[in-house]
Amino acid sequence: MSSADAAAVVLDGVTHSYGDVTAVGPVDLSVPSGEFLVLVGASGCGKSTLLRLIAGFEKPTSGSVLTAAVPPVPGRGAGLVFQQPRLFPWRTVGGNIALALRYAGLPATTARIEELLERVGLHDVAKRRIWQISGGQQQRVAIARALAVDNPLLLLDEPFAALDALTRERLQEDLRRVSAETGRTCVFVTHSVDEAVFLGSRVVVLTPRPGQVALDLPIDLPRTGVEPEELRSLPAFAAARTQVGAAVRHPGVFA
Ligand code: ADP
Ligand code: MG
Repeated sequence: MSSADAAAVVLDGVTHSYGDVTAVGPVDLSVPSGEFLVLVGASGCGKSTLLRLIAGFEKPTSGSVLTAAVPPVPGRGAGLVFQQPRLFPWRTVGGNIALALRYAGLPATTARIEELLERVGLHDVAKRRIWQISGGQQQRVAIARALAVDNPLLLLDEPFAALDALTRERLQEDLRRVSAETGRTCVFVTHSVDEAVFLGSRVVVLTPRPGQVALDLPIDLPRTGVEPEELRSLPAFAAARTQVGAAVRHPGVFA
């Protein structure tokens, strides 16, 4: 298999305009299968647009987007997680997961639902209503739902931005673990430098609108077998944070 076959996402000369406003590009980016790519940049630089292009919700104005070598089909081929969990509040936790499984034509067994919830660190909540659990737990359910369908790509748009600092750190730690366990390709959008370096196996910093690649940095930190505290205290973590932080503050310098 050539490296092109293995790429989960390929953006080739991609631009996107809303009317007269060019939001993104041109961007060339290839995301190998299994990578955890984090897109960082200031508000309004085109991060969400780029993610929506990968999800197939937007078509590029020029250039091409391929996921697993074909143009993306909206609602298929990628699990999506947004800033708000977008669950059905009057349904149970298990009921929300069951809907996603049934929508994909998969059996919604209690065992499968429990397995998905355990994966994101939720225990004994399947029968509770969404409005009865915390915001952090709701976001865990949203991630479990995105994992329910066995597609290889997970797209996350600032999923932890609305959470308090402690909850946010816990979810970052668990997402890092889950991505290593499942081997899914992740494209994660954030404007937090710290979050980007903690989560990413690669961090791409975008320029202000129209978003272009200002810095493309592999993050050479262990993905498994290391405690989060230990990871955050490594010199390589601090070095990457400094580099990404500088690129976010002065993106033109690296363009
Ligand atoms: P980010 O996620 O980095 O904050 P977005 O991708 O949401 O950025 O937006 C990039 C730019 O495109 C912004 O200037 C925004 O105002 C503009 N934009 C986004 N969505 C639309 C839309 N539906 N119509 C017109 N302009 C839009
Ligand atoms: Mg956005």
